Amino acid sequence: MPRPLHATIHLDAMQRNLVRARTFAPAARIWAVVKANAYGHGLERGMRGFVQADGLALIETENALRLRELGWVKPILLLEGIFDASDVPLLAEYNINSTVHCLEQIKMLEYTQLYRPIDVQLKMNTGMNRLGFRPDEFRTAYARLRAIRGIRHITLMTHFANADELEHPRLSIGEQVRRFRQGADGLPGERSLSNSGGVLHQAALFGDEAGELHNDWVRPGIMLYGGTPGARPAADFGLLPTMTLKSEIIGIQELEAGDSVGYGSRFQAPGPMTVGVVACGYADGYPRHAGHGTPVLVDGVRTSLVGRVSMDMMTVDLSPVPNARVGSKVTLWGDGLPIDEVAQAAGTIGYELMCALAPRVRVAEGRVDSD
Ligand SMILES: *Cc1c(COP(=O)(O)O)cnc(C)c1O
Repeated sequence: MPRPLHATIHLDAMQRNLVRARTFAPAARIWAVVKANAYGHGLERGMRGFVQADGLALIETENALRLRELGWVKPILLLEGIFDASDVPLLAEYNINSTVHCLEQIKMLEYTQLYRPIDVQLKMNTGMNRLGFRPDEFRTAYARLRAIRGIRHITLMTHFANADELEHPRLSIGEQVRRFRQGADGLPGERSLSNSGGVLHQAALFGDEAGELHNDWVRPGIMLYGGTPGARPAADFGLLPTMTLKSEIIGIQELEAGDSVGYGSRFQAPGPMTVGVVACGYADGYPRHAGHGTPVLVDGVRTSLVGRVSMDMMTVDLSPVPNARVGSKVTLWGDGLPIDEVAQAAGTIGYELMCALAPRVRVAEGRVDSD
């Protein structure tokens, strides 16, 4: 018998979330973002789940090549571009679309003879202040890129710092769009602005479904995995969970008032109570900083964590589930328990939980509710 902890990846939900993304952004083409091992779902599963996407976007050249080996023939986008001039020939050979966010990358492209035309995405920094050319430098960068032989299409792109909120007090999406508009005004080329937050907020912000946030490409990640970047639950947007992490109770302890649980004895029983030991710990990707009160389902009943999460185990309050026993099913997140809710209780975001799923966790594919 293997250890009971396992993750189920719901490819059908991935497909349906992509369809859902299209209903939000009907006029846009979609780069499905499959970076970070498809947000922990596995790159190949990402490819299969999003087979209907117009392109796949990720970070590493070697993973772009892997997608080609796996048979992906549609566009591929490198979200951070290349890291070295030696990668330029690969862009041409494997038809990979690269982000260009700094002068050094432009130089790499200038120095290397391109034997086949390539497409690039010129990135503007509209306030995130991570990657990209400032609006006032954008035109010069564009002209320099345009002058390189072998560069075919230049898409103009930016990435929002605050698309998860409609009106961020420091930097709203509206302000970032204004900067983008100004920096890119009159330049030819397609546009690509939105991550999941932008996709979900176009209608709310601009009152229509086909406006600027959806021109001409969108780059959703988290929404395709059934999470949201903001405070509203994913289910409100019709998104389905794509990863369910389940385990079982492997031990039970009866506590008396004053007994404590786990390392550091952080939890002390206020009265007699039963706790269950779950086979899942921080070495599996469950956040160690998840505290008392983080939700868990035992036999489908909602209860919560008590004590500290340890490397291979955690403990849960069995008071609401008196019939629980060794072997009872435990859901850590996913189907029946939104990952965003667990993340919030643990002081993090659903993205981090998905991405941190550890290699030692067994992964299978199945429909929602398949086991
Ligand atoms: C990660 C990433 C995305 C996807 O963001 P989500 O919030 O997951 O939708 C889009 N664009 C870029 C440039 C990214 O790095």
